[in-house]
Amino acid sequence: MTTADISDVSSADAVDVVVIGAGVVGLAVARALAQAGREVMVLEREPAIGTGVSSRNSEVIHAGLYYTPGSLKARLCVRGKELLYAFCASHGVQHRRCGKLVVATDEAQLAGLKQIEARALANGVPVSWLDGAEVRALEPALHAQAALLSPSTGIVDSHGLMLALQGDLEAAGGAVALASGVARGVVRDQGFLLEVRSGGESTWLRARTVVNAAGLHACAVARGLDGLAPRHVPTERYAKGSYFSLAGKAPFSHLVYPAPQDAWLGVHLTLDLGGQAKFGPDLEWLPAAQDPLAIDFTVDAHRADGFYAEVRRYWPALADGALQPSYSGVRPKIHGPGEAAPDFRIDGPQVHGVPGLVNLFGIESPGLTSALAIGEHVAHLLELE
Ligand SMILES: Cc1cc2nc3c(=O)[nH]c(=O)nc-3n(C[C@H](O)[C@H](O)[C@H](O)COP(=O)(O)OP(=O)(O)OC[C@H]3O[C@@H](n4cnc5c(N)ncnc54)[C@H](O)[C@@H]3O)c2cc1C
Repeated sequence: MTTADISDVSSADAVDVVVIGAGVVGLAVARALAQAGREVMVLEREPAIGTGVSSRNSEVIHAGLYYTPGSLKARLCVRGKELLYAFCASHGVQHRRCGKLVVATDEAQLAGLKQIEARALANGVPVSWLDGAEVRALEPALHAQAALLSPSTGIVDSHGLMLALQGDLEAAGGAVALASGVARGVVRDQGFLLEVRSGGESTWLRARTVVNAAGLHACAVARGLDGLAPRHVPTERYAKGSYFSLAGKAPFSHLVYPAPQDAWLGVHLTLDLGGQAKFGPDLEWLPAAQDPLAIDFTVDAHRADGFYAEVRRYWPALADGALQPSYSGVRPKIHGPGEAAPDFRIDGPQVHGVPGLVNLFGIESPGLTSALAIGEHVAHLLELE
């Protein structure tokens, strides 16, 4: 690998906007900016789009039940959900508005369920309260004292979604450069110089605007930007979530979530578009010094014990041996164990003072649901400059 010398920059190619990262969020932001008339290039280190966090999640279109009213997570999830259903319908992306039940399995969880109901209503999200008999009428296999029905929750084919976003981006004149990783950058000359590594070569690229949507690597990319004060870069932490799939058919037609504990939604049941059920993700903090390029995504079969215990609280008939290790994903967190989950951090020039730069930090769930609304939001931040 050769490293480009910064004295070589006079011949650097120039582009108006660079988006770093071709996950669902980077692609949605790039599409929004291209459709607003900007010249956009997405730089993706891997040889394909969507191989990061966006390929290892639950593929749930979240309704917006849980998030603090007025927060970015609440606003962008609710807006993103509306945009996403409309986008899927207009672009032929597979999805299903299957609804979900959040269940209280004992008296102690009823108060928590009431809190979620109040929060959902504050966020403008429709929910209805079901008593135990109403839950059994809907899902006979489910054990619950009560449940909240969220009819606007759904599921989506995340890869179909990303391909459609890329299609729109390209139709608006934008492009995705694969196997093109951003190694570092310099804030300079009313814009940026980015060192891009591709095929063993390193070159410099000029950009007027840079959007850092590098997922698990967003903090590292921001730290590598000379001219951005280090106090504007949070410390990354990673939390792995493993899934187990169900051998055989699940007797449920809705997604099923336990009443949430702490900042985690609990081991929930989701269905894919083919009707296959999976449980997860659980929550396993990775070491503070974890190298994101060396994450082991293998699912440890021993974690199944915890899953049986959790799932049987709401589905007592889960048979021994029915859970098979499936896949795992890793959440790009900006807080540590035991700390309250912060809001999405979408830092524009108004926050860090660098014109033309937007950093996206901590874009964990509901980032897939929110992607199109994040695109709108970033475009708006850049218009405000
Ligand atoms: C276990 C789990 C379950 C989830 N479930 C849901 C859900 O059901 N619903 C929901 O709404 N959200 C969910 N989420 C959240 C959602 O998946 C993420 O918010 C979303 O996928 C983030 O997308 P992204 O584009 O920011 O990141 P990514 O998809 O990780 O994309 C970042 C891209 O940047 C590239 N990159 C990194 N560094 C560089 C560099 N230096 N140069 C160039 N490219 C670079 C990476 O290769 C990657 O392709 C879940 C997340 C997890 C972990």
